[in-house]
Parts: sequence; C-alpha cells; structure tokens
Amino acid sequence: MRKITVPSVLILILIIGGCTTTSKVTVAPAPTTDAIDAGKILTAAFQQKAAEYRALCYQAYNSAYRSLDIFLQERTSKPPAIMTDIDETVLDNSPYQVHQSLQGKDFEQESWFEWTSRAEADTVPGAVAFFNYAASKGVTIFYVTNREERERAATLINLKKYGFPNADNAHLKLKTTTSSKVPRRDSIAATYNILMFVGDNLNDMDGGFEKKSTEARFRETNNHFSDFGNRFIVLPNPSYGEWENAIYKYNFSLTPAQKDSVYRSILKNY
Ligand SMILES: [Mg+2]
Repeated sequence: MRKITVPSVLILILIIGGCTTTSKVTVAPAPTTDAIDAGKILTAAFQQKAAEYRALCYQAYNSAYRSLDIFLQERTSKPPAIMTDIDETVLDNSPYQVHQSLQGKDFEQESWFEWTSRAEADTVPGAVAFFNYAASKGVTIFYVTNREERERAATLINLKKYGFPNADNAHLKLKTTTSSKVPRRDSIAATYNILMFVGDNLNDMDGGFEKKSTEARFRETNNHFSDFGNRFIVLPNPSYGEWENAIYKYNFSLTPAQKDSVYRSILKNY
C-alpha cells in the first residue's frame, strides 16, 4: 500500500476518468484523508471498468466449459463435483475495496463482515452461466470459502440472488479451524470425484501454494503447468491474495509505510 497526497489522487482520478470517457471529466470530491490506497483504487477500477478484466473472466470460464465436457466423458465410481472459491471467483467484492481505499484503510475483518452482511456483491463475469451449465450436466458444486460461519446466511442469500446452483448449507464449506482448503477438499473427495478447482488464489487449487515464498509459489506454478485451464481454472485478482501475503512474508502487522518499503526493495527497476 502506498500513501499518496491529495493532488496525486486527483491526478489518478483524472487519468482513470480520461481512459473511460471523452466527455467532460467529473472530479470526485477530495477524500478527507491523504492516506488513500491508490494501488487498490486502480485494481478496483480494473475489476469494475476494464473490458479486459471481463474478457479474462470469460477466458477462464470458457476453459472451464471445455475441460468439463472432456472430464465428463470419463466415467468414475464417484459422482462428479467442482470445488469453487467464492470471493473474486463467483462474487465481486471490488466495492469493498473501493470503500476501504477511499478511507485510507486496508482490509479489516469487521468492515468486511459489514460488507458481506449486505449480500450486495455482484457476480464475476461468466460464473453464473458456467456453474448452471455444470449443474445441468449432473455435476455438484461445492463452494469452499474462507468466509466465516457468521457470514453463512448472507453468503447464501447473495449466491441465491443470482441463481447459483447448490447454494445451500450442505454445499457451502466455510472456514472453521484452518484457512487451508485441503481438509475440506479431502472431505469432499471422500464421496465425490472433484473434476476441477476454480479460484482466484492458487491456494484454491492445491495446498502446495500455501504460506510459501514468492519464489516457491512460482516453482509450484511451473510444476502444475499443464493443469491451468484444465483442472485448475484461475480468475484474475490484482487486488489481494496469497501472492500479496507472500510479498510481505506473511507479516500481517506491517504498516502501509512498511509495505511501501517492501515494494521498493523487491521490484525490478532500471
Ligand atoms: Mg477468492
């Protein structure tokens, strides 16, 4: 996260506005703090306003259709299932990102609970159609998320609002004792043949990505080269994820200024 001054914020808003319209630019009221997180405003703008973001989501789900059709030709003794993440995979939480950034704040658990309790998240492009297609082919969908028990009711309301299949208590696997999805995956795999994993975080696909360094995550990604677009369907999320945690070496107590220093020390420059 970078702290920038108000004039810089106005320049950023002008740049974003200038990219999306040729009409007169309307400048938003200046924020009450100069601690706006400009990086996360830009990534939220990408998620909400870039046709390229939508195209990447379609690309991911188009791969999912092709893989599913191939996998369904293989008969197995267990019924077929798909394990999918929720946030930034089927539901779009970019308004939360904007809300926090404009107050100069990063993720906070309590404000996140307030956001999810509204059940107002829109869908990730392509998600509703794909999961309904899979359900129509007899595939059971499991929503494996690190949302918590207190978010259960609102999460189901949000999913049902858009007609996601299997949006019920039996198929919503929330975080309990661990954020790792491996135990939940294993429990589903005891009775189902999990055909594919869908998510914006590689931890949604395989435990080998969890709590690893950036370099180790790259190595693991290379090891799974042929899985991407096949068993592993990855959605874009430039705003947050294990990739960001790895950069900070999982030190969640860093201040915005300290995070800024980390970026300055590790990124390629010339
Ligand atoms: Mg996610």
